[in-house]
Amino acid sequence: MISVKNLEKTYPGAVPTFALRGVSFDIKKGEFVALMGRSGCGKSTLLHQLGLIDTPTAGSIRIGGTDVLHLSDEEKTQFRLQRLGYVFQEYALIAEFTALENVGFPASVLHGGVWDKDKATKLLGLVGLGHRLDHYPKELSGGEQQRVAIARALINDPEVLFADEATANLDTEASVVVLKLFQKLNKELEQTILMITHEPEDKKYVDRVIWMKDGLLSDSESSILKDKEI
Ligand code: ADP
Repeated sequence: MISVKNLEKTYPGAVPTFALRGVSFDIKKGEFVALMGRSGCGKSTLLHQLGLIDTPTAGSIRIGGTDVLHLSDEEKTQFRLQRLGYVFQEYALIAEFTALENVGFPASVLHGGVWDKDKATKLLGLVGLGHRLDHYPKELSGGEQQRVAIARALINDPEVLFADEATANLDTEASVVVLKLFQKLNKELEQTILMITHEPEDKKYVDRVIWMKDGLLSDSESSILKDKEI
């Protein structure tokens, strides 16, 4: 599903930052994987390269058989919209849109304003918000807003769902709801998911953890736990 080879990302500057220093791994279709490591180790940088939000300095990324780094900018935009789902720490909902309209939005961008209301309704039901279709973001709790964002990320049946600290702004109870929802999407829809998390506890929800340290993969949790801060 995802195959990453020798990925490097250097942020230029008076002192360049070598954020990714040669990262290689594979993720199979239907896997639920957590990306963990202490702050600054390169997790967000890696997710941004995979999500085609940024361009790496070297290496290759294949997603669902496509060599994504060789796509044109326009092709990358289309690939992102059609085949990838992204959930951010900030829910990034449109304040003037209802929950239903927010979920339909990415499909409407792809199809010239046309979107499938039934599908958006079904997805809101799937995330447990079938009773909140016409609510605006400000009328929803943080956890509910994040679940709308998850339904939105699923509207185009993405091959991979990327989650960047999706529970960081939520209290424990709402975080558990979101993590169990990811688990359900993974088990019931075989949704491939790669999520960044700071919470060692979250390990129990995933099939596998990819550990990072100083821009490289690390083979075990222990090398990271020594540093205390995750
Ligand atoms: P993490 O997500 O694990 O906390 P990041 O991927 O955000 O780590 O950052 C990895 C390294 O790259 C850090 O040293 C960070 O300061 C640096 N970095 C991240 N984004 C930028 C940027 N846009 N410009 C320069 N340096 C950056």
